[in-house]
Amino acid sequence: MIPFNKPVYVGNELEYIEEAVSNKKICGDGTFTKKCHTWLEKRFNAQKVLLTTSGTAALDMALLLCGLEPGDEVILPSYTFSSTATAPLLTGARLVFVDIRPDTMNIDEKIIEAAVTPRTKAIIAVHYAGVSCEMDTIMEIARKYNLKVIEDAAQGVMSTYKGKALGTIGDFGCYSFHETKNYSMGEGGALVINNPEYNERAEILREKGTNRSKFFRGQVDKYTWVDFGDSYLPSELNAAYLWAQLEKADDINNNRLSTWKKYYSSINIIEGIGLPYVPEECMHNAHMFYIKCKDLEERTAFIDFMKQNGILTVFHYIPLHSSPGGRKYGRFYGEDNYTTKESERLARLPMYYEMSDDETDLVINKVKEFYKC
Ligand SMILES: *Cc1c(COP(=O)(O)O)cnc(C)c1O
Repeated sequence: MIPFNKPVYVGNELEYIEEAVSNKKICGDGTFTKKCHTWLEKRFNAQKVLLTTSGTAALDMALLLCGLEPGDEVILPSYTFSSTATAPLLTGARLVFVDIRPDTMNIDEKIIEAAVTPRTKAIIAVHYAGVSCEMDTIMEIARKYNLKVIEDAAQGVMSTYKGKALGTIGDFGCYSFHETKNYSMGEGGALVINNPEYNERAEILREKGTNRSKFFRGQVDKYTWVDFGDSYLPSELNAAYLWAQLEKADDINNNRLSTWKKYYSSINIIEGIGLPYVPEECMHNAHMFYIKCKDLEERTAFIDFMKQNGILTVFHYIPLHSSPGGRKYGRFYGEDNYTTKESERLARLPMYYEMSDDETDLVINKVKEFYKC
């Protein structure tokens, strides 16, 4: 059986976890968390990065920091994970879904401006499959209407847009280190803060409403409760696991990219299949390899065929606007030309670190067999 995903494991994870245990420091913000923060800030040229307990928690923090009020509107794609939509709800904001582009499956930047109302306060750009949204256009609209931009870069760690790391372009970036993502700590994530004005508020929010972070840096001589807060910092055990992977980030990225390229060049020649599109200004991280079948019926047959041959391929999001939560909290602006249609065609192929040539060959051969090629 070829699984759809395997959690990435590079070899030093257990050693670092043992080190955290023997340091007698397993709560948050210890040595491993600091190593991860510094690495992420340096590598992505980010002003400030804070590890969180999940990608969802990073989104929650970002939306809370935006200072939204009940009745404010947030523009987002409908083709995304529930976390993108639940974060704005924390502040009582309403969701305005817009259609995606069929080529990248990202929010259609050309529709956003028409969806802006006097109540609009933020745009969430989801970088699907680690391929960037059209960020110049999105940032221009945001400046024009004074909107915050949150990048849901949960799938986009190590990807770039015009040379800039995803997550560092908007006001906030949100990464996920869930077991299904390219770099993992089991459950975890990170918030990228691109405007230093939010640094202090973010630290307080993350540390139960206290100024403990300032205290640890010796900037205040005792710490106290100062504002609204929650607990978003992960344990050192998880950070130790992640650190092993960040040390090997280039290996992991290159390894995934070579599997992706092999898929692409072999499947590209099959007629009647749609393939991912990566705009020239984007460098992606091979988070995902998907194909597009003719329609829902063909996709169902494809997934069944692959499963009978021991290969797990999976569809992805059910559009949020047609789900019970989406109907309750949001509305769809304009026409759904592509969100439903394209989501019904998409099937993801197995993709993980150190996928063997035998495994990729088997998947490719079975795809060819299904398409009688
Ligand atoms: C994985 C993912 C999330 C949530 O991340 P968690 O770490 O699982 O909470 C949010 N948005 C997108 C687009 C994701 O792929």
